[in-house]
Amino acid sequence: MKHYDVIIIGAGPAGSMTAYSCAKAGLQTLLVDKARFPRDKPCGGAVSVRSLKALQLVGLKVPEAVIEQKIHGLQFMGPELKPFEYRSKHLLAYTVKRSKFDDYLAKQAVLAGAQFEHECALIGLEQSQHHVRCQTKKGQFIGRLVIGADGATSIVGRSIGVRKTMPAREIGVAIEVDTPIHETLWNQGPDPSNIVLWLLNIPYGYFWMFPRKQSLSFGVGGMAGELGNLPNLLRGLVRMFCEQFEMPTLRLQNIRGHQLPVFRTPLPLSSNRVLLVGDAAGFIDTFSGQGICYALEGGQICARAVIEIIKYNRPLSEATLDYQTRIAQRFGKELRFSWTIAKLVHSHQYGGFRMARFMRWPGALLFDLARGKTDYYRMKRNPLRLIYKLFVSELRTRLMSNS
Ligand SMILES: Cc1cc2nc3c(=O)[nH]c(=O)nc-3n(C[C@H](O)[C@H](O)[C@H](O)COP(=O)(O)OP(=O)(O)OC[C@H]3O[C@@H](n4cnc5c(N)ncnc54)[C@H](O)[C@@H]3O)c2cc1C
Repeated sequence: MKHYDVIIIGAGPAGSMTAYSCAKAGLQTLLVDKARFPRDKPCGGAVSVRSLKALQLVGLKVPEAVIEQKIHGLQFMGPELKPFEYRSKHLLAYTVKRSKFDDYLAKQAVLAGAQFEHECALIGLEQSQHHVRCQTKKGQFIGRLVIGADGATSIVGRSIGVRKTMPAREIGVAIEVDTPIHETLWNQGPDPSNIVLWLLNIPYGYFWMFPRKQSLSFGVGGMAGELGNLPNLLRGLVRMFCEQFEMPTLRLQNIRGHQLPVFRTPLPLSSNRVLLVGDAAGFIDTFSGQGICYALEGGQICARAVIEIIKYNRPLSEATLDYQTRIAQRFGKELRFSWTIAKLVHSHQYGGFRMARFMRWPGALLFDLARGKTDYYRMKRNPLRLIYKLFVSELRTRLMSNS
């Protein structure tokens, strides 16, 4: 039976980023995933500039072949309201297919020296004083540490007793469908560099269209208990989208869904020799549903704790406590505040939508968030600075549009 310094369960962005950083530091790293790679995952596949910066920090860059579209604008739609859009000369996000994006990241972990076993589902784990024994579909593996990066329904989280039953009010859910289109659509219909969003009448959530090269990703997400029949809601919204863009109605096939782990109270991120990261640890922005950037940033912070324990013999309890603190400082407080933002936007939807049509600052704010130039927590801590910045941005755009 082979022994490893660290075994990472789940090869999504969180797991692959952790594996990449651990392997780069020279640790014996095993990355396992239950799926056969490349595998797809229900996801809009919007990778924000903030995510790209997290990749850049460790010397990674999304290859051109993985990029579907480069996003520079947000277009808003709503019932009986004229659509409007915000544009930026700066890049806001790439859209990707998760099959290609996640495969690229797992390959980088392998190139850095990690061993990758796919079709290798974790069935159970057992902790002892010095090791963790992982029982998988491909046999047993032993690691000095185990990282649970196995997504929203984390078996690792449940086995260490950190993730119990989720309270109904904390179950977020999103469904997505990738719908093929003819490339000529881009000459007549929506702009391929725009994301289209519909915020109205969707409790704590929204409908989206993320453009890809030869398809459109449609999806809707929000709080599970309040959304009713999600596939029917999605079909209705796509019908309205097609009417809006004067396109023939698109047939939706293979609608897929997944939980969004939007915990109001932060989870403990470790238990003894097991640490959690990414969706498994509840790293999701309740307002936008964005999780990729927190998975990538979290993976780097998690790898730092692992390296300190294995390579520099830092006491386990100290390093895991620091892991929790560093996450709280980097984005924990921000994610908790995303609940307030979601609530605020939800309860003032119509007024907000009408105001946003005539003001430029909401767009400037959304762009700064996507580009990682600000976050909800910084906004809350320094409201005067925020108001000043937004006032200047509003003034500048108005002056420029008048000249
Ligand atoms: C419909 C939808 C749309 C979304 N759109 C966006 C978006 O546009 N942008 C964005 O930033 N975020 C989006 N998100 C959130 C984003 O998908 C997640 O936050 C992100 O994938 C988290 O990465 P992760 O690595 O933690 O988990 P995952 O990407 O879920 O990866 C977990 C991995 O663990 C593996 N696994 C699970 N169980 C086991 C097991 N027992 N043994 C071994 N392996 C296992 C799985 O096969 C999977 O590969 C969306 C979510 C949903 C549901």
